[in-house]
Amino acid sequence: MTALLKVQHLYVSAHRARDAVTVDLVKDVNFTVDSGEAVGLLGASGGGKTLTCLSVARLLPFGVQAQGEISLGSTSLLPLNDTAMAQLRGVELSMVFQEPSAALNPLLTVGEQVTDAACARRGLSYDDARALAAETLGAMGVVGAQKALSAFPHQWSQGMRARALLTAALLVRPLLLLADEPTSALDAAAVGRVLEVLKKAQAQDGMGLLLVSHDWLAVRQTCQRVYVMFAGRIVESGPAAQVLEKPRHPYTARLKVEAQRRWQSPVKTGALSETLAGCPYRGHCSKASERCSEMPTLETVGPGHQVACFHGETL
Ligand code: SF4
Repeated sequence: MTALLKVQHLYVSAHRARDAVTVDLVKDVNFTVDSGEAVGLLGASGGGKTLTCLSVARLLPFGVQAQGEISLGSTSLLPLNDTAMAQLRGVELSMVFQEPSAALNPLLTVGEQVTDAACARRGLSYDDARALAAETLGAMGVVGAQKALSAFPHQWSQGMRARALLTAALLVRPLLLLADEPTSALDAAAVGRVLEVLKKAQAQDGMGLLLVSHDWLAVRQTCQRVYVMFAGRIVESGPAAQVLEKPRHPYTARLKVEAQRRWQSPVKTGALSETLAGCPYRGHCSKASERCSEMPTLETVGPGHQVACFHGETL
């Protein structure tokens, strides 16, 4: 079966003007998402998840370049011109990115904006699209959604705006949804509802989902497979239940412990950057040995389960 989304040997780099050096921010990332499948990209901020997602959407900031192969079905995305890519976005590929405030026009009502893509791309009437939007928002826990759609973005809370953007993306019924931290502005009750709506959309439409998140629990609840990223590399991947419950990489194990602690008291997972030669996690790892001054590659340790760690077998 051909994967819906296939990313092969993705490198993302930026030119640093102050010392004229090109810095690799994402390094040799490979992953797939099938139709109807939810795949998580898990890791702390600064690990390369968002850049990977922006590379798929071809929305990298100025001066940042992606190289490698990204295909959606049979379409290779990186060589597409801007017009072809714009036509594909919002039809086959929908995106929800962080900062919902920046994505909404303050001069238009939320209802106008949430329904716009569905009217344009699916040919729905405004009334039909608005009714669907109210239903979806209600399922996500927005009280009085029908009336609230007539309000402007500044009259909605941050959490409501995040759900509005997710609704706009889902109304298009895309083949693939890229969702970057879609639940970060929500309380625990709303997170559960949003994840249920995402799962329902997948079951109904066979939508593929790439869930980019630092939230171990959200990925565990939603995804069938997961790729854990650290310092721009995938360090562990495989079935979500296997990887998240019985992690082999020390970084994945740390994410699990921090997620469990968070349920009792908040613990911040800070951005961790590559500072030493060899394994990028070496400076943070209690298992590090002399051998870790070399770069570990992903090795298979179980069915579909891969780990980039010299001591992953012994965790
Ligand atoms: S390779 Fe070494 S430093 Fe890297 S995660 Fe494994 S044990 Fe730790």
